[in-house]
Amino acid sequence: MGNDAVTILVVEDEPQIRRFVVAALAEEGYRVAEAGSAAACVEQLAAAAPALIVLDLGLPDRDGIDLIGELRSWSRVSVLVLSARAAENEKVAALDAGADDYLSKPFGVGELRARVRAMLRRRTTAGDEPVVVFGDVRVDRLHRSVERGGVAVHLTPTEYRLLGVLVANAGRVLTHRQLLREVWGAGYGDRSHYLRIYVGHLRQKLEDDPARPRHLLTETGIGYRFQIQGEEP
Ligand code: CA
Repeated sequence: MGNDAVTILVVEDEPQIRRFVVAALAEEGYRVAEAGSAAACVEQLAAAAPALIVLDLGLPDRDGIDLIGELRSWSRVSVLVLSARAAENEKVAALDAGADDYLSKPFGVGELRARVRAMLRRRTTAGDEPVVVFGDVRVDRLHRSVERGGVAVHLTPTEYRLLGVLVANAGRVLTHRQLLREVWGAGYGDRSHYLRIYVGHLRQKLEDDPARPRHLLTETGIGYRFQIQGEEP
């Protein structure tokens, strides 16, 4: 199965959700460790050495976002956050603190497994292939060129930088703040309208139907996600 070396730590205080997540991952062949509190999470991190943590933000003993911030000061473990569907602010804060992705409760087994697989794959490939192909678009990062259907597409330097950051983080959600900092710089974290405009430009140039994008996806209230494998139109 190839998963046997990988340990996943599930941190969730609600027993029925924890059982559900643990069973879903164990059936996939992962080794699974469990914790019901932030304190137990820190213990298990040392004991089980997981590659990935599935972390509920509503823990009894500590604020989950605070915990992520601390983890990030010494650990590169992947963090998948579980959060209530409507809690956009919480998700954004968790991602800005260093979480790698999130799942909205309630979620299905398929969604959980797909997200975990994608995160573990990113750990090993790190999105550093020079050429990335999606749909009929080819991005050559070595030569800083973009083609669509074999025809060169002109991108402005800012459009190219934005596309580059999204492509380098393929499959992963990036918050408005993360994208603005990466592309425009530290002082631009609150200018979400820049992103709306420039993502709009990229969709016009690279998506078949800019109004219904398949690769440059909006995560409402949170940010954007670039998907190599396009969403169904
Ligand atoms: Ca909880």
